[in-house]
Amino acid sequence: MEQKLIWGVGMASSRIGLGTWSIGGWMWGGSDEAEAVKTIRTALDLGITLIDTAPAYGFGRSEELVGRAIAEHGGRERLLIATKVGLAWHAGAVYRDASAERIRTEIEDSLRRLGTSYIDIYQVHWPDPLVPVEETAEALHRLFERGTIRAIGVSNFSPEQMETFRAVAPLHVVQSPYNLFERAIEKDVLPYARRQGLTVLAYGALCRGLLSGRMRRDTRFLGDDLRQTDPKFQPRRYQQYLDAVAALDRLAHERYGRNVLALAVRFILDQGPTIALWGARRPDQLAPIDDVLGWRLDEETRVAIDRLLAEFVTDPVGPDFMAPPARETGPRSVVSLRS
Ligand code: NAP
Repeated sequence: MEQKLIWGVGMASSRIGLGTWSIGGWMWGGSDEAEAVKTIRTALDLGITLIDTAPAYGFGRSEELVGRAIAEHGGRERLLIATKVGLAWHAGAVYRDASAERIRTEIEDSLRRLGTSYIDIYQVHWPDPLVPVEETAEALHRLFERGTIRAIGVSNFSPEQMETFRAVAPLHVVQSPYNLFERAIEKDVLPYARRQGLTVLAYGALCRGLLSGRMRRDTRFLGDDLRQTDPKFQPRRYQQYLDAVAALDRLAHERYGRNVLALAVRFILDQGPTIALWGARRPDQLAPIDDVLGWRLDEETRVAIDRLLAEFVTDPVGPDFMAPPARETGPRSVVSLRS
């Protein structure tokens, strides 16, 4: 497994981290607990040492399953748990709350669910427009100084918001959407992270499964699965993305004898201070991990990727649909993210 040292934690992490949103079930059409625990244990057996979770993923369920799997597996001290803070929920809908008060209660809940006395990487899930960034940063700084958290992260923050944060507290990690189809951070967050020595946890490495190569025109999603409303998965655009995936898959086979999934995750790892968060909820989904490691994309292939994306995805759309609402619209009237 390739490794990356994370400043702050002072420990190396595997370049691939396991994403456990779908394991929580919420917004992914439910999940199977036994399969979920098996998936986490498989990830650890394959050499993945970073697991990303959040209280909001299944309203505590993802964190509990991560805690259970680590207890069964053992070796907590060799693993990095990355969880988050700053999203509250009511009646099945989430909204932002990164206040100091919320952070004080959420850390205790996360520690209990994860069955641990410390969090390795504690990340503000979304910037909260109703709470000064300084208040959030100060609350995290206190936890860091106490040793309850070993590194501080923010997620979905702009460089400007990170600058404000860093005036009050150290910052070690930024978690942002990043995959072959969602590359906005190349313009701002990624160069900023390179300059400031931050580690980037790239989320949605497979673009919610699109870049796995499994999706077909007639693939159906069940229950509250977010891909029913994800704009990339809606008819006309969906076909553009499927055509792009097919072209990228041909390219990966021609150039490297690998498939589109390997190309997509490798692309992220080649960008420097990055760790790819790969969401999986069944052990077999992690089987292709070896295809991703130990090689690099050449410049010619990178140019070819950009050409194919421009040719096939003529109406691109970003991941903005996932942004949760602020507290001012809730908790009673928050937009249900399940609708
Ligand atoms: P992702 O990694 O792009 O895609 C995950 C989905 O891809 C899986 O649930 C699975 O879907 C499919 N998949 C995975 N491996 C596969 C394989 N080998 N073959 C076929 N399909 C495969 O999406 P993500 O889970 O949204 O993102 C990764 C992680 O990033 C999350 O779990 C979470 O930890 C983090 N994240 C953070 C934020 C944030 O705001 N900070 C937002 C989103 C995600 P099926 O099981 O349905 O086939």
